[in-house]
Formats: sequence, C-alpha cells, structure tokens
Amino acid sequence: MKWINRLIALIIVLLTLNIFIQPGSLKSIGHRVNNAIDLPTMLKVEIDKDNHHENQTQQKATQTNANATPIESIVQGRTLSNRYYYHFANGVGDRAKQAFLSAVSDYNKTGIVRLEPQTGKVDSQANQLTFYVYKKRVENGSGAVELGLGGPQIYPWIGNRNDDLNRGRAGLNAEYPQSSMQKPVALHEIGHALGLDHSTKRDSIMYPVDQGETRLSSGDLAGLKEIYHK
Ligand SMILES: [Zn+2]
Repeated sequence: MKWINRLIALIIVLLTLNIFIQPGSLKSIGHRVNNAIDLPTMLKVEIDKDNHHENQTQQKATQTNANATPIESIVQGRTLSNRYYYHFANGVGDRAKQAFLSAVSDYNKTGIVRLEPQTGKVDSQANQLTFYVYKKRVENGSGAVELGLGGPQIYPWIGNRNDDLNRGRAGLNAEYPQSSMQKPVALHEIGHALGLDHSTKRDSIMYPVDQGETRLSSGDLAGLKEIYHK
C-alpha cells in the first residue's frame, strides 16, 4: 500500500503548487514573478541531450501548435505587448552591436514584434530589452562553450494596465568573440528575451547548439505568434 501514500503525497504537492499559480497571487504590485536570465544557453557542443528532450516534450504539451518553437514557461499565459524598446548596456562594442542590430532587423521583418531603439525618456510601462556583453570562461571539461545568455523577465500587470511587462535581456559572451559576436547568437538570445525556449528542431534559431542558422524558422514564427497572440 506504499504507493497509495506516495500518490497522496504527490497530490498534496500538486495542490500546493496550484496555490502558487492562482491568478490572485500574480497581481501583487511590482513583484517579479520569475527570472530566467541565468539559463546557460547556446552551447557549441551538445550536452545532456536526453534531459533536454524530456523538457521539450513537457513544454510542448502546453502549446497549441505542435510545430511551434516552445515558449519559456514564465511567458506562457501572459499578455505581452509586441512593442519593445531596446538599449545597449555599457561596454557593448561595434561588433556586438552589429550582431544585435542585424537580429533586431530580422525580428522586425516578421511583423509579429516591433523592436525600436530607446531614445530619450524611459517609459516605465513599456516592454524593454537590454542588450549586453559579458565575459565568462566555461571550465566544464566537456568542450562546451557558452556563447550567450538570454531570457525574459516578467512583471505581472499593475493597476489598470491590461498587459504584463517584459524586461528581457540578451547577452553575448565576449570571452569567445569569434563565435559569439554573430547574428545567429544574437537571434537566439533575443529569441529567449522575447519568450522563446529551446527547440529540438535543427532549423530553429532556438536549437541550443550553434549551427550558424541565420533565419527564423516557420516554427520560430509560430512560437512568436503564440506569445504575442498574432
Ligand atoms: Zn538558448
């Protein structure tokens, strides 16, 4: 009868989790729901393929279009404006800027999102993206090289607004400039900042291993459309 106890324990755990995702708890003012910034991304070699695959399967179950690139869990069910203002953090050189701007241009061409340079006063009610560079040597012995980091940063809607806010970040690892200061990496990290998760499909810009893919796939576009209800 041990399994019954386990089942009861599992149900209790699930009920407890449910309490945390009730809508009421998401309305607290100024509270950051989650933070996916520190997910290591864009590795040059494949690591832990099996785990990765399991994650993808779970995430796909919550999406309507099976071909769509998965959506970051903290973005699922959110209402986000498709308009973003971006700025470069201090220390972003010309090469990184070029990679970011080239990726921005591609995202704007989709017509699904609109990324505009932030000029003048910051609108605290608008979605914002920060593009940055950082330096991190990866010493894990597997030969994996981290080319970038990216993620959405979601704040629930406040007061009379109807949209949640995203303060996403996309970073390129300046430790490996030859590999990281490139359009595919910028596309991938901005994809994370906009809410896309990793894909198991090789033609996706969100495939976690850099293949020099320079174009958003039909699955990537479908994922963006789901996030921004287009
Ligand atoms: Zn990634």
